[in-house]
Amino acid sequence: MITRVRDDYDVLIVGGGTAGAIAGIASARTGARTLVVESAGYLGGILSFGMSLIGSVDNDGRWALGGIGRELADRLKAKGEATAAQMSPLWNSILAQAPEATRIELLRMCEESGANLLLHTMLVDAVTTGGHVTHVVVANKAGLEVIPASVFVDASGDADLVARAGGEWYFGRQEDGLAQPSSRIFMVGGVRFSETLEHLEDAPTVLRHFYEILRPGGLSAPRTPIWSIRPISF
Ligand SMILES: Cc1cc2nc3c(=O)[nH]c(=O)nc-3n(C[C@H](O)[C@H](O)[C@H](O)COP(=O)(O)OP(=O)(O)OC[C@H]3O[C@@H](n4cnc5c(N)ncnc54)[C@H](O)[C@@H]3O)c2cc1C
Repeated sequence: MITRVRDDYDVLIVGGGTAGAIAGIASARTGARTLVVESAGYLGGILSFGMSLIGSVDNDGRWALGGIGRELADRLKAKGEATAAQMSPLWNSILAQAPEATRIELLRMCEESGANLLLHTMLVDAVTTGGHVTHVVVANKAGLEVIPASVFVDASGDADLVARAGGEWYFGRQEDGLAQPSSRIFMVGGVRFSETLEHLEDAPTVLRHFYEILRPGGLSAPRTPIWSIRPISF
């Protein structure tokens, strides 16, 4: 049962990950009444879950990342919460940021822009008229709410809004439906950095050990593993 119909917005963004939070900031900065609906209790999605930014600088050291994404990186760096973009001797550039600080900084930037947020709120349905989305239905502790808007942006990372609105979607590779294996991402402290780098330069040996772990009878992987370790330091 619907518990409430909210005021309408000019722009409603589903998902407050990197794409959604930044779309929300960009939209609100133009003066549009903007709402970001996010199922988690924080902004930044995968980025503020512990992801680092790869390829923000090209191989010639020129910034490839611009706009509000760059602004976020600069703000975090100024607070000592992100590294400079570091050229890896083995792989392309990497810029690492502290996950908690990224969440806080994105909240600050949203607040400064005037974007409204609905955290802990999940899109569960979409209402369409003539092939256009007119309202979304969201669920949170208040129950089921309806929110109208003029423009909707699907930044759910999973095309949730597209699917609920009856749009076309597909999962994985078109020929066989397989998706990219997910990475195991973690942070460790107390690493002897230069020795680690030396070790990694012997990548084929490390890779061989990895394949040995996945030998028959051992652990199994559904797909050929893609292997990379990206050492970074704050
Ligand atoms: C395991 C893994 C490793 C990766 N490695 C790298 C890497 O090393 N470097 C790199 O640059 N990129 C990497 N990527 C890709 C990168 O993380 C994504 O491209 C990027 O995070 C996409 O941002 P996004 O905002 O579109 O989606 P997400 O970050 O996924 O954000 C989507 C947001 O929408 C919210 N949401 C989802 N459904 C709903 C709903 N129904 N209602 C409300 N909210 C909803 C989610 O809670 C989430 O906050 C990796 C991705 C994964 C999963």
